[in-house]
Amino acid sequence: MADNPSTGSGRSPSELQFETLVSLCKRRGFVFPGSEIYGGIGGFWDYGPLGVEMKNNIKRAWWQAMVQERDDVVGIDAAVIMNARVWEASGHVETFSDPMVDCRSCKHRFRADHLDGDVCPECGAVGQFTEARQFNLMFKTFVGPVEDEASVVYLRPETAQAMFVNFENVVTSMRRKLPFGIAQIGRSFRNEITPGNFIFRDREFEQMEMEYFCRPEEAGRWLEHWLRERLAWFKRIGVRPENLRARAHKPEELSHYSSHTYDIEYNFAAMGWSELEGIANRTDFDLKAHAQHSGKSLTYFDEETNEHIVPYVVEPAVGVDRAFLVLLYDAYREEEVRGEKRVFLQLHPQIAPIKVAVLPLSRNEKLVPLAQAVHAKLRPHFMTQYDDAQSIGRRYRRQDEIGTPLCVTIDFESLEDKAVTIRERDSMDQTRVAIEELVPALREKLGEL
Ligand SMILES: [Zn+2]
Repeated sequence: MADNPSTGSGRSPSELQFETLVSLCKRRGFVFPGSEIYGGIGGFWDYGPLGVEMKNNIKRAWWQAMVQERDDVVGIDAAVIMNARVWEASGHVETFSDPMVDCRSCKHRFRADHLDGDVCPECGAVGQFTEARQFNLMFKTFVGPVEDEASVVYLRPETAQAMFVNFENVVTSMRRKLPFGIAQIGRSFRNEITPGNFIFRDREFEQMEMEYFCRPEEAGRWLEHWLRERLAWFKRIGVRPENLRARAHKPEELSHYSSHTYDIEYNFAAMGWSELEGIANRTDFDLKAHAQHSGKSLTYFDEETNEHIVPYVVEPAVGVDRAFLVLLYDAYREEEVRGEKRVFLQLHPQIAPIKVAVLPLSRNEKLVPLAQAVHAKLRPHFMTQYDDAQSIGRRYRRQDEIGTPLCVTIDFESLEDKAVTIRERDSMDQTRVAIEELVPALREKLGEL
């Protein structure tokens, strides 16, 4: 994989606001507000034609690094709805909650720990908050035709528990030895009291989580290992290193299951350093809890020492949507070109939704057949887009704005010399390449995808 393109002359605005990205995402087909024609629904977003491509690219890059390129990690894809006892064992039924207050004046609901003072941020009323109550973040529903307590189930608030309850299945079917990991990408749901900041905190989201099982005495070392690996991954897919940092949790921040946790944080100019990924030492909390609640032994037989042990677990967990937001935010550039503002997304070629745009200089009937032939030649190799509407300058701008690394232009000379122009997004440099050599030339410029 190529390094992050760093030669582009554009600069990201020092205070890039989420509104700018929300607007670009909607205008260009990345992300739409959920159920928009009905007035939307807070905390739910729909990914559009370009968004789904970019999201798939992120998931593919994660799976490649975490599963494909490793001998010690395997994947699963578990059901979203699990036996409700899973969430009793994991502690989520009892403790997965936020303190919440209502404003008696305007009826708005807030997280108590997000309020600065006694003044309602919605209506300005003073001293009108109710006492804080605990509010469980899991969505509830029912399995089967009867809506009673016995049929209550939850939409999973994290994918991790599926790895713990399948521990024995994976060890046995895949003949795994410690240390090893189980990875999963999938939807999770949290009934956040205050979703916000675009797709940073939403109520339905996708997670990429990996549970790494190891000997208890080695958990500390693996925690450091996975912190390094995960930081390196973000840099490899194009996040600028100066916008990333690792921060160890203070004891009072730790989750009920964790002894040590790092957050990888991203520096959003609009809201400061914010959590992008958590890397937690979950100890043997989950396996022990499930063994106790299910009555099944969830131990690992160590052939060296002839002992049954309960492994510790190190977990790197990142939200796909949050990674998506960070990649867009980090890639956003503005610059002046001949007195006009040019906006472009300096996305890593592996992450960009469209790799190559095919642009005939005009809709002239002599150009179109050749342009279409070039397009047909490229499609099996790259995600492409064919565009012949409006002036070539406007089409370049459109591709810049969606982060397409390369444009291929077919002009009248192409009919004679059987060559086309490759135009690069970041430098806007143009090179002439024979159509015969086009696929390898594009591949090289994209850094061998
Ligand atoms: Zn109020």
